[in-house]
Amino acid sequence: ALSATLATAADVRQLLSASADARLLREAVQEIDPVDEARALIDANVGDAHAQALRSERDPRLAAIHEAIDTDRALIAGLERDERERTGIRSLKVGYNKVFGYYFEVSHANRRPVPDDFERKQTLTNAERYTTPTLKAAELRIAAGEERLATLERELYVALVEELGGCVARIRATAGALATIDALQALATVAAEQRYVRPRLLDAPGLRIEAGRHPLVERGLAPGDFVPNDTLLSDERGRVVILTGPNMAGKSTYLRQVALIVLLAQIGSFVPADEADIGLVDRIFTRLGAHDDLAHGQSTFMVEMLETATILNHATERSLVVLDEIGRGTGTEDGLAIATAVVEHLAEHVGALTLFATHFRELSHLAERHPNVRALQTAITRHDGAIVFLHAIVPGVADSAFGIEIAQLAGVPQQVIERAQAVAPAALAVALPAFSSASAMAGDRVIAELLTLDIASTTPLEALNQLADYQRRLRLAAVEPVGPRALVAEERRDFGRAD
Ligand code: ATP
Repeated sequence: ALSATLATAADVRQLLSASADARLLREAVQEIDPVDEARALIDANVGDAHAQALRSERDPRLAAIHEAIDTDRALIAGLERDERERTGIRSLKVGYNKVFGYYFEVSHANRRPVPDDFERKQTLTNAERYTTPTLKAAELRIAAGEERLATLERELYVALVEELGGCVARIRATAGALATIDALQALATVAAEQRYVRPRLLDAPGLRIEAGRHPLVERGLAPGDFVPNDTLLSDERGRVVILTGPNMAGKSTYLRQVALIVLLAQIGSFVPADEADIGLVDRIFTRLGAHDDLAHGQSTFMVEMLETATILNHATERSLVVLDEIGRGTGTEDGLAIATAVVEHLAEHVGALTLFATHFRELSHLAERHPNVRALQTAITRHDGAIVFLHAIVPGVADSAFGIEIAQLAGVPQQVIERAQAVAPAALAVALPAFSSASAMAGDRVIAELLTLDIASTTPLEALNQLADYQRRLRLAAVEPVGPRALVAEERRDFGRAD
């Protein structure tokens, strides 16, 4: 395998020397050394891959042992014919197994008196197995020969490995270079096949992803079925997003997609999007899905809180934080209180880029109070009474989790569904979500900021600037189109890009 790899390494080097011009690739190519003498040494000493043995012509002692063993094997094969003649049993066979070694086998059906020197070795249901002094002697010689062969091969092998040891540093460097090239070509192939684009990496916190896709969910769907979504986290538009939406609407997918895009960008890959500006992050923190660690004395909620604590204690303003449901593992009131405090802390003190998916609609109100927090939802609509998931991320707050309808889709008995509908506070049938438009959101935000503005501590100049900002934002909101793709269009300017 090593020899074959080194041969291939030479081909890779030749191929890439002519075509590679990226610096990383060129450097890797220069590291490739096919270590010709190692290959020659292996090829001269080791038989082809299937033989799994050292070449006997390399050492006269090896050849002699092989020859002796072959002679005895031929002798045993010849004994079958001889003993058939001697005993008159035409079905007599010579055989071998690991436990009993070599034997002559005579089936009971053909049994007749065997010669005196036939010694019984093993009795089977339908046959008898024997050995003879001649057979035994040949068998012993073969066994001894094989043992000597093993010892000698081991010695020669160790010597070969030691000799190859001189080339280890070069072989390792080549392996490292091939690994780099392999990883790069894998990323390049995926990028080409899945239409990824080269992200722009920025040295300032912020994310602007246009038509981002989840690399794996997309591949699980029929071509064109995945709905791409934009992402914008910036100082201007807020670093924290609260994402609400019905079950199954695509919240988790969206969160993971953003984290994966950032990860891919930072490992040097192209990303599944139409365009992406990625501010370098120091870490990506995720809390996704409920799990427990009962074996180590930790309940589901305890795990949830441990993870939350780690995130809050370690995230910085250069981190990306992705939280899928916090506070669901405990009572609603406590859960909501914790979730609220977590969002506030992230928005006010940490300043990390944060995506927070939740079924607590109440959390979305934080967007009205905090300029750093924005509320988005996963859009759905209804068709003939059934919910249709649009999988588009749009501004606003989801009206309902549609949990009962999802339960119905999943096959929960009709009786249970009807009962749930009866005890649910609002009649779900009328809960058609109204998509808040981007402009309404901007208006709400300005009003919220106005209401919380501390006039007593505002200087005239600040007040004037603030006024100009409100006016600019309201004008902007009034003219821009509304819809998921408008999310980026509306805010592109704020993110520092004009095109
Ligand atoms: P829950 O609240 O129940 O956890 P969710 O809102 O997090 O649900 P996801 O698990 O993200 O929903 O998505 C459910 C399914 O919807 C996915 O398995 C995927 O098949 C589909 N889906 C999600 N996002 C998209 C998208 N952008 N385009 C097309 N299909 C999608």
